[in-house]
Amino acid sequence: MSQEIVLIGFGSNVGDRQEFCDRAVALMNLLPLSRVTGVSSYYESEPVDPEHTLGPTWFYNGVVRIETSLSPIRLLDILHETERALGRDEEHRSGPRTIDFDILFVGQQVIHEAGLTVPHPRLHLRRFVLEPLVEVDPDWNHPVFHRSVKELLDSLTETGQVRKLDMIPGTKYGSRPVCSRPPA
Ligand code: AMP
Repeated sequence: MSQEIVLIGFGSNVGDRQEFCDRAVALMNLLPLSRVTGVSSYYESEPVDPEHTLGPTWFYNGVVRIETSLSPIRLLDILHETERALGRDEEHRSGPRTIDFDILFVGQQVIHEAGLTVPHPRLHLRRFVLEPLVEVDPDWNHPVFHRSVKELLDSLTETGQVRKLDMIPGTKYGSRPVCSRPPA
């Protein structure tokens, strides 16, 4: 498969949220046939889905951009393996989660396969996804809505609170620091 730019969202709302996200981003640097080309800051976000509001804490969220030759399905498999390795409770997937990954975009592809929909079907409704996406790549085009992620964020009416934190995920484990924006 040719190289694609893939944007991946991640979040944690249980235990040491920063620790889980740091490990998750450090593991992104070990993906085969891939390299990390951007990482957003951390964002702390209010739980918005009803099943998550029972959890005690807000989420830590962020976005990683990679370039990869992995197929989207293979990438999703590896992300699920990583969720399991970081202790995600498979029997209660929608409950509090040590780490959750979502494939947000795979280049400009539109994918409808069993277990994988890309662009992620709810990303345009979620401030905690759009804010870090805009930090990493504000002009990224949504291939279904034909609007940039910045435009989608500007038109969002959903009110879930999101706070940007002055911290970059992954640095704790010695990952190579990467610029959050592509060079001009
Ligand atoms: P969640 O519990 O929110 O992590 O949802 C995971 C489920 O959503 C899994 O069954 C995935 O196969 C499915 N899924 C569909 N599209 C995506 C996507 N773009 N990124 C991640 N998971 C997806």
